[in-house]
Amino acid sequence: MATRALFREDAYLTGCDATITAVDELGIHLDQTVFYPLGGGQAGDAGALVLADGTRVEIADTRKAKFEGATPDDAVHVPAPGQHALLARIAAGERVRAEIDWTRRYRHMRLHTASHLMCAVLPYAVDGCSITTEYARLDFATVEPIEREQVEARLAELVGGAHGVATEWITDDEMAARPELVRTMSVKPPMGLGRVRLLRIEGVDLQPCGGTHVRNTQEIGALRVAKLEKKSARTRRLVLELV
Ligand SMILES: [Zn+2]
Repeated sequence: MATRALFREDAYLTGCDATITAVDELGIHLDQTVFYPLGGGQAGDAGALVLADGTRVEIADTRKAKFEGATPDDAVHVPAPGQHALLARIAAGERVRAEIDWTRRYRHMRLHTASHLMCAVLPYAVDGCSITTEYARLDFATVEPIEREQVEARLAELVGGAHGVATEWITDDEMAARPELVRTMSVKPPMGLGRVRLLRIEGVDLQPCGGTHVRNTQEIGALRVAKLEKKSARTRRLVLELV
């Protein structure tokens, strides 16, 4: 039931044709998909699977599949409430058109890329991260004071700097030999596929990441620090929003 994760090579793909490999109580499995499954702090995609007869199965979320032997790329497309009756009508082998909610995903891509910029602005370990349609929230393990205006100014500079964003691959062994690349303690590098994807923001940041990003920091647009608080004695929480 291995799923080919097409968003890994091209985050801008909004749709693809696919074959249903299984339908179970959690949802629909496909042989390939453009839907990003919740992981690495980034929310799962929503959208629709369009059946050959034009019927739309609305998808509310995408999760990593949990079956035995599942790879990190195996995904299950979770139907929206009220869509489950449609599941009885579809079966493995059927062809579908998978279409993501691009407005939602593009916000994830912009905010996710912004969270990498945050890592460059604040040189502390990240011990929590959540990227949704509304915000990017990062917890930094530090007791140092953080100045909201300084962070916003530096972020604006990096966004305006139009830095290129690209992926590179290294082997699991190379990754293991370069632990300094890992910035997020709470998110393990996406290992287990034999190779690890690194996300490079030219001249700004380099770290393992399996999420979806924009091609250039300029696409992020204006950002504001919506919240800056002391989460614990050793952690500062920062919430970023698109303006
Ligand atoms: Zn990332």
